[in-house]
Amino acid sequence: MSAYEVDAVVVGSGPNGLVAAVTLAEAGWRVVVVEAQDTAGGGLRSEETTLPGYVHDMCASNHPMAMASPAFRALGLEREGLAFAQNDIPLGHPIRPGESGILRRSAADTAAGFGADEKIWRRVMGTFGSRWKQLGRAIGNPLRPTPDLIALGATSVWPTTWLLKALRDERSRAVLSGLAAHAIVDLRKPAAALVGVALGAFAHGVGWPVAVGGTSSIADALIARFTALGGEIITGTRVTSVDRLPSARAVLLDTSPRDALRIAGHRFAPSYANALHRMRYGASAYKVDWAIEGDVPWADPALADAGYIHLGGTAEQVVAAERDVAKGRMPDEPFLLLSQASMLDPTRAPSGGSAFGGYAHVPFGFDGDITELIERRIERFAPGFRDRILARHVATPAAMEAHNANLVGGAIDGGVPDLRQLLARPRLSLNPAETSDPRIFLCSASTVPGPGVHGMPGRLAAQLALKRLG
Ligand SMILES: Cc1cc2nc3c(=O)[nH]c(=O)nc-3n(C[C@H](O)[C@H](O)[C@H](O)COP(=O)(O)OP(=O)(O)OC[C@H]3O[C@@H](n4cnc5c(N)ncnc54)[C@H](O)[C@@H]3O)c2cc1C
Repeated sequence: MSAYEVDAVVVGSGPNGLVAAVTLAEAGWRVVVVEAQDTAGGGLRSEETTLPGYVHDMCASNHPMAMASPAFRALGLEREGLAFAQNDIPLGHPIRPGESGILRRSAADTAAGFGADEKIWRRVMGTFGSRWKQLGRAIGNPLRPTPDLIALGATSVWPTTWLLKALRDERSRAVLSGLAAHAIVDLRKPAAALVGVALGAFAHGVGWPVAVGGTSSIADALIARFTALGGEIITGTRVTSVDRLPSARAVLLDTSPRDALRIAGHRFAPSYANALHRMRYGASAYKVDWAIEGDVPWADPALADAGYIHLGGTAEQVVAAERDVAKGRMPDEPFLLLSQASMLDPTRAPSGGSAFGGYAHVPFGFDGDITELIERRIERFAPGFRDRILARHVATPAAMEAHNANLVGGAIDGGVPDLRQLLARPRLSLNPAETSDPRIFLCSASTVPGPGVHGMPGRLAAQLALKRLG
């Protein structure tokens, strides 16, 4: 008989916690997941926050990374009923009212809209896009470099502002800057362009879809697989100490570095605890969802069909906004990331209405009110937008953190993914999920390869636990 009550306890049920739990359960381990909130899913939750029938994603909305991720592809969650919806236009980037850069599924069609940059876009993004599978594998485990990772690094480890110098068309420059801004780091610093080029390549390779029924369907599929394998999920229980958990061979923490210290700090060697202490968090998210009558009345009709909108203006405006945010200043024209989810997935809103929403990048821990500023900014590019608002739901950085303890100060990244923290996450190690305690593993976005719904930190941590303790 086993000396333990269970084989593993996973603390936290975000995509990484759930992928880790499923991976362990598939290997025959008895696994319990303990989640602080009343609903499992972490960044995968969706709710009717504005009006009944309007389903909004609380955090993650669009899923190029899930589509390209080896962890998700290996799980085959379509067997649990998971489906994605998308069209030919993953992304639109309004530059000024009536004028936008449009990123299409086809790299050639996208490039055709980028004037003087047609050739370079086709050559760089088209090539990476056609190798999305290899790129997904390479990014999923970047500490074991592959030729694709080396090629990505050679092209785009540089500051985004340097890459922008190689482009001449306003539309391609805007689109690239918006993609890189997903890293939420100052675009004059290295590494953000890695994120930008990878996201662009995935948009061409696999698209930028939403999950049918809401991002929560991804959690539902993972939970269905996990419970079918005999796994148990305990919700509404915030873990404060590893000593109060059921006895287990392994504990996997899908938590922030801050909570990892709170829960298991007394078990860590000082050097590992210091690495967790030293993690720097990036900018925060200020999220607004709207129930809209009809559609968003974009001045540029091409935006009506774009699944995702980077409302950022010119590349220079995006660079300035991200620079201000990184310096702790609220920009006058914040970068907005907006999902037109119900356009792609009509199940998310009653007929004649739209579930629209997204977030602004704001300084870490920002505590002001910018709802009016955000709506004015959208109104400029979509005149009449404000008249169509039926209801809104606002989540400030503090509210984001209250809804998910991993969003420290409302920061969405689990530790800013700048060059250092992309690799040393939380410290440099070929097995970044390992802690100084051989039975405790970190499996959240605060380990390699970092934020996003791709489940790779969860998969790598679970594989390491199986290898060492299985
Ligand atoms: C506004 C926003 C928009 C985003 N948009 C996208 C997007 O479009 N596409 C994309 O790929 N990614 C997106 N992301 C990023 C993505 O959501 C995260 O990177 C991802 O969810 C991280 O997964 P995780 O499993 O590491 O942690 P999380 O999803 O954050 O889950 C952690 C879970 O652990 C629980 N927990 C924490 N501490 C404890 C404790 N002590 N005891 C018990 N439970 C605990 C939390 O309650 C939570 O449920 C977005 C994030 C935000 C905030």
